Amino acid sequence: MTIELASKIRDIPDFPKPGIQFKDITTLLKDGAAFRAAIDGLLERIGPRKIDVVVGMESRGFIFAAPIAYKLGVGFVPVRKLGKLPADVVSVEYELEYGSATLEMHKDAMAPGSRVLIVDDLLATGGTVAGTIELVKQLKGQVVALAFLIELSFLKGRDRLKGYDIITLIRY
Ligand code: AMP
Repeated sequence: MTIELASKIRDIPDFPKPGIQFKDITTLLKDGAAFRAAIDGLLERIGPRKIDVVVGMESRGFIFAAPIAYKLGVGFVPVRKLGKLPADVVSVEYELEYGSATLEMHKDAMAPGSRVLIVDDLLATGGTVAGTIELVKQLKGQVVALAFLIELSFLKGRDRLKGYDIITLIRY
């Protein structure tokens, strides 16, 4: 199944800037069977872990985090870029493969002690997820696992996420 899914992802060289090989998941998403297999595959790996809330990052993370939250029967919390959330926020500055930015989460997004699953489409350097972990910690949430459709293992994101339970379906 993993091999089939990988064949649905399109490589776009030099996007959004020279030297970046962009993994375009729109070719997977538009294929109903592949999209379902991606969500089901992640859910299978998530297994019996006890989760209270799923946190997903703008914007491709939402696509995977929301159906996983629905299926687990728990809430979904969005992490957004600077200035997008309307109520009081916690925020963190983070680095990513191509730039740096600020991530925010609503202050009342979760109760202290909540068991959190963080979901994004792709793990590259790990900067985005490290920032998201920081936000969850500010709200005293407990990170149970990190789940990604794709892992770019050559960027060594795992090295900065030592001690965390990392789930990935497709590795390059
Ligand atoms: P990072 O913070 O370096 O782990 O980058 C992860 C975030 O940036 C994810 O939200 C991805 O959607 C996006 N991203 C980084 N590198 C790529 C890439 N090569 N192809 C597609 N998306 C990427």
